[in-house]
This record gives sequence, C-alpha cells and structure tokens, in this order.
Amino acid sequence: MRALKGSLSISNVSLIYGAGAKSVLALDGISFEVRANEFTVIVGPSGCGKSSLLYIAAGLTEATSGHIDAGGKMVTEPGADRGMVFQAYTLFPWLTVRNNVEYGLRRKGVAPLERNKIVDYYLGEIGLAAFADHFPKQLSGGMMQRVAIARALANDPDILLMDEPFGALDSQTRHAMQKLLLRVWEHAQKTVAFVTHDIDEAILLGDRVIVMTARPGKVKADIRIDIPRPRDPEIMLEPEFIAIKRRIINELRDEIDETH
Ligand code: ADP
Ligand code: MG
Repeated sequence: MRALKGSLSISNVSLIYGAGAKSVLALDGISFEVRANEFTVIVGPSGCGKSSLLYIAAGLTEATSGHIDAGGKMVTEPGADRGMVFQAYTLFPWLTVRNNVEYGLRRKGVAPLERNKIVDYYLGEIGLAAFADHFPKQLSGGMMQRVAIARALANDPDILLMDEPFGALDSQTRHAMQKLLLRVWEHAQKTVAFVTHDIDEAILLGDRVIVMTARPGKVKADIRIDIPRPRDPEIMLEPEFIAIKRRIINELRDEIDETH
C-alpha cells in the first residue's frame, strides 16, 4: 500500500446524471493513472465532465460504473487524504478566514500553537495575513478563492483536486498562486489533478496534460510536458512550448463547447 500513497487511479469511470429520457451521459469510460507526486492537468471543452470527474475523485459524486482509487483505496466518500479547491465548494460563511483555513487541522487534532504557525504561513503566502479575522462575506471573490487554496494546502493532503482554482483571479495574483502551488507541490510531494481551460497555465504547471473530448467525456489525448522546471513564463515564447500548445489546440479544435 505504501508505494500507492498519493496515487490516483481512474478505472473505466462512467457517469449518468438523472434517469430515463432526461438522463445525461456525462462521462464515458474514463481511465488514466496519476502517479504519486505527478502534476496532471485536465483540459476539455466546457460541459465535458471535468468537474464531475473531480467530484467523483473527491467522493462527493458516485460514478455510475467504474471507480477511482486514491492511495490504493477505492473512493467512497471525502477524506483528509484529498484536498479540494472547487468553485462550488465554498468557505464556511460563519467562520473567520483563520478558522476556515485551520478547519481541517482542528479536525485532525493539530495542537493550537502548531496550527497557528501553519495558518499564519499560508495566510502570508496568499497575501491575506491582515484579513485573518474577517468573515468570507467581507472578502472579494478572488480573496475567497485564495483562502480556499490556503485551506486546502494547510491541511497537507496527499492529493490535491483543483477545479479551475485560479479562474477568478487577476493575472498577477494568478501568477503568484501558481508559484505558491508549485512550491508546495515540489517541497511537500503532492499529487495534483488540476482542471483549467487556460492552455498556457496547463503547460506551465503540468507534468502531463489530459485532453478530454466533448460530452460524453472520454480521454482524447495524454500529452507529456517535458519542459524543465522551474518554468519561467518567458518559456511561453519558446518553440518547444508553442509546439505543445499547438498540439493541445488541435486536439481541442474538433470538440464542441457546450454552452450553458
Ligand atoms: P465541465 O466541468 O467539464 O464543464 P461538468 O462536469 O460540470 O462539465 O458537467 C458535465 C455534463 O453534466 C454537462 O452536460 C452538465 O450540464 C451535466 N451536469 C453536471 N452536473 C449535473 C447535475 N447535477 N445534474 C444533471 N446534469 C449535470
Ligand atoms: Mg467545470
């Protein structure tokens, strides 16, 4: 079991929402393995089931068939081994920023001194140390998103499931959050499954980019990103980067974006 710690194995996962004439086949036989400590990015047209896939990995949605194993154990419910940053999985409105970030640490029984140290570190890293005692409703959307990121990182999960976590951020903050995530990923040996619709972000961050088809979502391409790290944004101008970007754009071109 030990060698599997942090791995994420997606085995022939299909998902149907609803029943009868109104049922929607969202995912159609998705399989791929994310190795421990691998940074995997998932891209695909909107409505192809990216969020659904992460929800199943989180244990918040049940697959209709197939299964996902996290750390060698079949996912049936949320667990502290998996940290989530989802758009719809918001902060607790009745808790301050500090209490939101330390929530998982408290549940794990981490002592107050240690807890404060960890929370202070992440609040500093997300640039919100001065907002520790504020409530979510006093923050902007981007600030809340950063608190959600701090909350997930502070809990030190083996696996991070992130659904367009930087989507609501301005480009400067987005860049700072990308750097923070990479720093934590490199130092604390995390496995990451990261959804984005930003192809530059996918190539800057990922060891690998999984391209999904339009709904029903299937794996269309699995592209290894061998560009050495650290990856300065300047590399976006290099032929190597552009070649990968062209390949991903081509894979996505024939897929239709569902508009909601
Ligand atoms: P993505 O994140 O790639 O945009 P989603 O996973 O959100 O895609 O959705 C995949 C498909 O499943 C879409 O067609 C969406 O409308 C549908 N869907 C998502 N959630 C539900 C739900 N709770 N009930 C019914 N259909 C849903
Ligand atoms: Mg989504």
